[in-house]
Amino acid sequence: MRLTFPRMGNSHIPFKALFETAGVEVVTPPPSTRRTVNLGSRYAPEFACFPLKLNIGNFIEAAELGADTVVMAGGIGPCRFGYYAQVQDAILRDIGRHLDLVVLEPPCLGWAGLLRQVKKVTGGCGAGTLLKAIRLAWAKCCAVDEVERLGREARPFERVTGSVTAAVDRALQMIDSASTVAGVKSVLGKSSDMILGCSRPGAPRVRIGIVGEIFMILDGFSNLEMERRLGEMGVYVHRFLSMSDWVRSNLLPKSFAPPGEKDLIEGAKPWLNHFVGGHGVESVGGAATYARMGFDGVIQIMPFTCMPEIVAESVLRNVTRDLDVPVLTVSLDEHTGEAGLQTRLEAFVDLLSRKRALHGRGVGSR
Ligand code: SF4
Repeated sequence: MRLTFPRMGNSHIPFKALFETAGVEVVTPPPSTRRTVNLGSRYAPEFACFPLKLNIGNFIEAAELGADTVVMAGGIGPCRFGYYAQVQDAILRDIGRHLDLVVLEPPCLGWAGLLRQVKKVTGGCGAGTLLKAIRLAWAKCCAVDEVERLGREARPFERVTGSVTAAVDRALQMIDSASTVAGVKSVLGKSSDMILGCSRPGAPRVRIGIVGEIFMILDGFSNLEMERRLGEMGVYVHRFLSMSDWVRSNLLPKSFAPPGEKDLIEGAKPWLNHFVGGHGVESVGGAATYARMGFDGVIQIMPFTCMPEIVAESVLRNVTRDLDVPVLTVSLDEHTGEAGLQTRLEAFVDLLSRKRALHGRGVGSR
């Protein structure tokens, strides 16, 4: 078996560690490029969500490198994630790529099924080895989240434009190379000095909270490096969603749900008080929470045609009205251009800076 998986941001780092430590041969999908998008868009239905198209491109490119099995998460609820795997399977068969798809359904659908699928991909590895693999992968998952967070903190104040991004990339490579949990912890300590060392003390121009669909938030390629763009404009960027949260929500029992998830769901209640699929409720709760925390604005990132985020978008207008927080919705797909996105971000940041000045709150500079 030569195993591959969808590429979502830096999630390949813990996934690779998990399966390689369990003794499985892994084919990491190459970093997404225009070719990946073109492959996915050519074979997926036009109105499929962008992550599905990108996944198809990832799988084809991994198959070209010899992958024969795909492992991916399943889903439930009123959005299309629940039948992603079936649609992708049908598309791959239609184009003659016979990859075996192994779907890890959430534990709420039954532990027996989940364990059967885990056994299918980890083969004959013993419980001790599997535990070791899970511990290393989890350490890497949390370390990646932390390095990305440090990047967001330091970027608005970097001395040399691009130096924080370069330090983050170096740190991610070091995490990828670490082979033990102790090694990951040691890399994390060094990374923190390396990333924060690129910045100087200062005040951000404005503070923006990011909400939206998790794949698009975590995958820098898909969102055209929005966090980096904003950081390099001197904007402090914060997001509640992270990769470890995604694992907790999708692959672990409810008792392991991310610590802040309940607060976001509660925070959304005055405007949206039922599950709409994906992270639609968290987007509304996140925007309301950012407004209460005094953030200057919110950016909602979503794939074009994403159902939960379309519901959230319509509700966010009421959050803006009630809590006076500007929200910019950015809907992305294979047709989105960098120049257009950059212009929209610059205009939004200018608007927030002026609003901040009007309210007598100082505006930081770069
Ligand atoms: S959350 Fe949105 S993008 Fe993700 S599967 Fe559902 S509809 Fe598609």
